[in-house]
Amino acid sequence: MKTKISVALILLAAVVAGIWYWQQDDTQTHGHAAYAHTEAILACGPRPAGSDGLQCAHSYISKELAQHGWSTMSQTFERDTPIGKRTFINLIARYQPSDLSSLDELKQLPTRGILSAHLDSKLIPGIPDFLGADDAASACALIIELAANLARNHPKLAKQLELVFFDGEEAFNENIDLSIGDGLYGSRAYAITLYDRNPKPSFGIVLDMVGHKNLQIAVPADSPPELYASMMRSAKLHGEDQRFGKASTGIIDDHYYLNKAGVPTIDIIGAGFSDSHWWHQQGDDMDLISAQSLDISYHVTMTMLEELLTKD
Ligand SMILES: [Zn+2]
Repeated sequence: MKTKISVALILLAAVVAGIWYWQQDDTQTHGHAAYAHTEAILACGPRPAGSDGLQCAHSYISKELAQHGWSTMSQTFERDTPIGKRTFINLIARYQPSDLSSLDELKQLPTRGILSAHLDSKLIPGIPDFLGADDAASACALIIELAANLARNHPKLAKQLELVFFDGEEAFNENIDLSIGDGLYGSRAYAITLYDRNPKPSFGIVLDMVGHKNLQIAVPADSPPELYASMMRSAKLHGEDQRFGKASTGIIDDHYYLNKAGVPTIDIIGAGFSDSHWWHQQGDDMDLISAQSLDISYHVTMTMLEELLTKD
């Protein structure tokens, strides 16, 4: 009898554990998928402009997106940098475009919103294997997961969205310096394509450092108010508004030139990165990020996209 009770108890425990695991897994499905994409991007190695690692990451992203109906094209350009002339490549994706082989064709497609992140990793003297897991492979990984689900659940909205994986966000000198044009190479070149679009996209979202295991987001103080309100509404809806807020100052990041080109753009970026022990340091690896945080960033961004892409 005792054995039967023990067996029954073990079975019950197994069922409870199974349900617990299933619930955990189910609630973080998107986070786990984005986590796996981050690992795959990091497996390419360092991704500074012109590197084999960046090419490898482009191939991975293009292949993943293609499985869900997204086509990709490259915007290639050369720029002088503090370490000499370099070639940069922005990767741009659209959902089921009629054609997508030139910037002129791209500009003809209806675009209500832009979803973007930088794919390059910083070239850091003394850290040859710097991978930039949260800066910003995790954000690019999140875009893959968002794009897959938009295509699956909201194909009409996906048609209105342009995805951009920027090259050259990172400066070759220690910090981004707009006075000499070091850093934001990709977003500056991409922003030029926005000037003559008619109509202009009505919003942009930049994701950067959105997978940190202690997720705290602080958007630039001068963020477009309607986009900040949309982010906070979305965060509140998911019960995560305590993790989202505003920095006390502006931030120089890829949103800068999109705003200058007349597309109101918000930079959803991890708080306090410049004072952290990991930013542009060895510690920016997979240990820093979590599927749970990526899941939160997924849901907040997806709800924003659903709202902003359907707004009159
Ligand atoms: Zn960086």
